[in-house]
Amino acid sequence: MSSATGTVIETEEHRALRAAVAALGQRYGREYLAKTAREGGHPVELWAEAAKLGYLGVNLPEQYGGGGGGIAELSLVLEELGAAGCPLLMMVVSPAICGTVIARFGTEQQKQAWLPGLADGSRTMAFGITEPDAGSNSHRITTTARRDGDDWVISGRKVFISGVDIADATLIVGRTEDARTGSLKPCLFIVPRDAPGFTRSAIDMELQAAEKQFELVLDEVRLPAEALVGDEDAGLLQLFAGLNPERIMTAAFAIGMGRHALAKAVDYAQTRQVWKQPIGAHQAVAHPLAQAHIELELARLMMQKAAHLYDAGDDTGAGEAANMAKYAAAEACVRAVDQSVHTLGGNGLTREYGLASLITASRVARIAPVSREMILNYVSHQTLGLPKSY
Ligand SMILES: Cc1cc2nc3c(=O)[nH]c(=O)nc-3n(C[C@H](O)[C@H](O)[C@H](O)COP(=O)(O)OP(=O)(O)OC[C@H]3O[C@@H](n4cnc5c(N)ncnc54)[C@H](O)[C@@H]3O)c2cc1C
Repeated sequence: MSSATGTVIETEEHRALRAAVAALGQRYGREYLAKTAREGGHPVELWAEAAKLGYLGVNLPEQYGGGGGGIAELSLVLEELGAAGCPLLMMVVSPAICGTVIARFGTEQQKQAWLPGLADGSRTMAFGITEPDAGSNSHRITTTARRDGDDWVISGRKVFISGVDIADATLIVGRTEDARTGSLKPCLFIVPRDAPGFTRSAIDMELQAAEKQFELVLDEVRLPAEALVGDEDAGLLQLFAGLNPERIMTAAFAIGMGRHALAKAVDYAQTRQVWKQPIGAHQAVAHPLAQAHIELELARLMMQKAAHLYDAGDDTGAGEAANMAKYAAAEACVRAVDQSVHTLGGNGLTREYGLASLITASRVARIAPVSREMILNYVSHQTLGLPKSY
């Protein structure tokens, strides 16, 4: 099954990067990640090796130890690791959101303090925006920062925040006391993992993943002035500088997972025989797999468009494309996984074949970081100009 796109869409360098990352992914594979998750560990070996090869910081500026590329390259890395069965979820938050926001809006001191570590994998950063009483409606977030002399004092709650236990710090989205209500004027703070008043409890998820989700409490967490990233009055612009890469990376995550499941199903359909021909000869088996392949390829095209627009500095164009890419990739992934499980019959539900757990995992891309319905709302209102129901 072909997975690479032609040179018209991707450069020779991109194709070489795909091949190199795929080779790394194949050396680890699904079993490595599944075993790590079962044992309650983290994929530290793969993280370190990917970092050493320059893959984790491929999007970060060269002067801070990165590869000088963009989200196009970073999303390609995540997609290929996913296709090999070992995606690194923290890539979505650490280099993609946090690295991008710091590179674009951070002070020189913040760049020097964080970017080399995010690039070489020695430091990781989580990202927290979701709140229990706000959910999809980020305008309702209530995590509040007040000034006290030169310091900031932050209070609030967050939920479903990934990887806080392994991250050196979490980039927390709050609002200042002066802008406590009304439309969100977000401001972003780097909160160290062990900051006094910053506590976390793991949420018991039905996901077989090494990265855990946490509920966070910020109880009068005191931070120095330099914890604020960017301008407190910059508004949504600097937040979306991070959220668009997050959507593109979630698309990459979903496409990789879909490709991984589909490859297993195709392999099975070629060899499993219960009548005269392998089951893949029956069109009822073959056509849905062909359809899944087409949908994944289409989603990848939109992901590439979004990454291209983002890397070219077109934040507005990238916003629409990133939403559409995330939508298309999540839907393609959910269908590819579902059809792959079905193709394996009873084996689709065995531990040995490792596909059934992807049913739950694939649903994450439909919900996070922005749900299918919120993207449909966005396209209805922003693209089609239809009125709002909420
Ligand atoms: C595995 C996982 C990892 C995550 N990691 C992070 C992380 O690292 N950082 C972080 O900040 N967040 C994270 N999240 C949170 C994620 O972004 C949220 O779950 C998501 O934004 C949805 O919010 P919610 O769960 O509160 O759902 P709700 O907002 O309560 O929505 C529930 C349902 O209602 C629908 N809905 C809501 N409003 C509307 C509307 N106006 N029109 C139509 N339908 C609507 C939604 O589409 C959804 O189906 C993670 C979530 C998961 C599952």
